[in-house]
Amino acid sequence: MYVVDVGPQYEGERIRRGEYHVEFGGPEVPRKGELVTVRPAAEVEHDRITVTGPDLKDMPPDSAQPLFIKIDVAGEQLDKDLEAVVERRIHQYINYIEGAFHMGQRNEIWIRIHKNSVKKGLDSLAPIGRILIDLFTAELPVIEKMSVEFYTEPAKVKSLVESAMKVYRERDEKVLGLKEEDVDEFYGCVLCQSFAPTHVCIITPERVSLCGAINWFDGRAATKVDPEGAQFVVPKGQLIDEQNVSYDAVNEIVAARSMGESTVFSLHSALENPHTSCGCFEAIVFYIPEVDGFGIVNRDFVGPTVIGEPFSSLAGLASGGKQNAGYLGMGVQYLKSPKFLKGDGGYNRVAWLTSSLKEVAKEVAPAGVIAAIATEKDVQNVEDLVGFRQRAGRL
Ligand code: SF4
Ligand code: ZN
Repeated sequence: MYVVDVGPQYEGERIRRGEYHVEFGGPEVPRKGELVTVRPAAEVEHDRITVTGPDLKDMPPDSAQPLFIKIDVAGEQLDKDLEAVVERRIHQYINYIEGAFHMGQRNEIWIRIHKNSVKKGLDSLAPIGRILIDLFTAELPVIEKMSVEFYTEPAKVKSLVESAMKVYRERDEKVLGLKEEDVDEFYGCVLCQSFAPTHVCIITPERVSLCGAINWFDGRAATKVDPEGAQFVVPKGQLIDEQNVSYDAVNEIVAARSMGESTVFSLHSALENPHTSCGCFEAIVFYIPEVDGFGIVNRDFVGPTVIGEPFSSLAGLASGGKQNAGYLGMGVQYLKSPKFLKGDGGYNRVAWLTSSLKEVAKEVAPAGVIAAIATEKDVQNVEDLVGFRQRAGRL
């Protein structure tokens, strides 16, 4: 039916350098993104698929290209709260395609198309649009109409990313102010078990998913519309560890959904039974013993962190769905959570941040605490960091 095969058996397939015809987005391409918008039915032309700009067949082999995927959906029961959830499924469904690999979300997508699939006829983005519409409408019947537009011209991608950033921000801000104590249930997600089979995400009002794409409202919307889907309700139960924040009923669900791999999740500690990570995290918390504190690095930070390791090496230690004390994948918005690393001392325990993350932290942490956190502009290695923290009176 399609030029290449489609199905869940292709999830988890990796495509290495040398094997792909083209990669879209990723670290070498500054602008890329994907956005789903719920619109009134009259504004969505069902089955419309367009490619604006060079298509796969026009692109030189082994190149990295910009891409923006703009999806509009309509349906009587679809509301704005579902946009993020539908958007996250782009990741799942592109990975269903033979010879297609999708990683990341929002403005951090990274897609590779295998040379063999291009040879089989996947030499245009249009069939990917067709497959997406078929999968989305089959799996989520609330979607009655859907159109998919691909943009590959750098200037157009740039302007689409700029407007999408406003939407991502609005979604993130919606959850600010709501506390874990205010709700009876959290939400879970196991969408990433195709890559990390024992990984479970627990999403609370004060803990956005580590991919940064699903907040508590999104989880609620997803479970209402598709209770059998990758997102599910997690009753809180009793608080059994106030410091690190652990709930008995949450732990039971984590144990069941991780096939026994993790039995206790601290929702707000990187050191004691930390939440697991797949590989989609926007940032990584890593413990630095010399300062008894943490460093935090975001995915688009280029070069080594203060401990000499780049994001990619730390990602190997944090990912894979296994608890690794001292390493925690997180969504950038978690920096704004009132319970940010509560169990470990919160911002007082943060010794090093990339300068872009420090800008986010400044919005919430007291000025004195912020002044004691070094960035790549202040120190280049752990020795210098020790001196920095001593001068700041933190060691
Ligand atoms: Fe779901 Fe977590 Fe994967 Fe995001 S990172 S898609 S919330 S399992
Ligand atoms: Zn993931």
